[in-house]
Amino acid sequence: MAKATSWSDPPTKTLRAHGVKVRKFDTSATPGFKGNKRAGEELLAARALVLSDLQEKLYANGRSGDQRSVLLVLQGMDTAGKGGIVRHVIGSVDPQGVDHAAFGVPTEVEKKHHYLWRIRKELPRAGQIGVFDRSHYEDVLVVRVHELVAPEVWEKRYAEINKFERKLVDEGTTIIKVAMFVSLEEQKKRLMQRLERADKYWKFNPADIDERAYWPAYQAAYQDMLDRTDTEYAPWYTLPCDHKWYARLAVTELLIDALQSLKLDWPPAKFDIDEQKRRLLES
Ligand code: ADP
Repeated sequence: MAKATSWSDPPTKTLRAHGVKVRKFDTSATPGFKGNKRAGEELLAARALVLSDLQEKLYANGRSGDQRSVLLVLQGMDTAGKGGIVRHVIGSVDPQGVDHAAFGVPTEVEKKHHYLWRIRKELPRAGQIGVFDRSHYEDVLVVRVHELVAPEVWEKRYAEINKFERKLVDEGTTIIKVAMFVSLEEQKKRLMQRLERADKYWKFNPADIDERAYWPAYQAAYQDMLDRTDTEYAPWYTLPCDHKWYARLAVTELLIDALQSLKLDWPPAKFDIDEQKRRLLES
């Protein structure tokens, strides 16, 4: 079994977005990890158990009145592997403890509301790990790239999002934001797979090919998003995603770190243990 020492530096350090230049970002790197794919997969299996244990503690505390929660925000271009993170990382914990939400093109009803309206409705409840597959950041990404609102409208959103996240953190939510990057070449490979494999046709959307023409505009929008919404209280991590095994392992570590920082313990019994044992024996 691979040891935890396969990390020379933890993802909390190597993946922090401070000063990252999106256009120069190496999407095929495996920062801080010394092993190969096999070592990564072995370690992931072991770390998934640690994550699962911590998640159960968060859930148990939530059931006992602790108001805290964790929110994992996944943002990335098509094919970056958001779905894989949900299946392979989040899939390793008890589904009862997960509040999952995916945000696509806003519905007619959603369009009538402020862009944070649909986000607020999906925030994790106490004791839950919330996972956002896309998020409020679409409102400064796709919306900006495709000029769905005027620049003066999206321009104000960065500060508004920071304020929104500050409040969430103050109310007890630990926020981890992960920006997932693949190269244009890797995206082509992954889209081609969707056209070549019957089990992947359902994932293919012809519009994904048109989006590739907007790559530089997306890079600029991602850059601004990172520069303007990477805060100490709600940090961005930039994740190279050409290697799926690395991306999954790194997100597992980020979640473990966030949960460990909550210093969770099993909630104490709210009853007299000896008395209940006696009653049980007598029953
Ligand atoms: P995925 O492509 O992640 O499998 P969907 O097919 O449901 O998911 O669609 C996601 C699409 O919705 C993406 O193209 C994304 O840019 C778009 N989208 C998400 N949020 C918004 C928004 N606020 N305004 C416009 N489009 C959005």
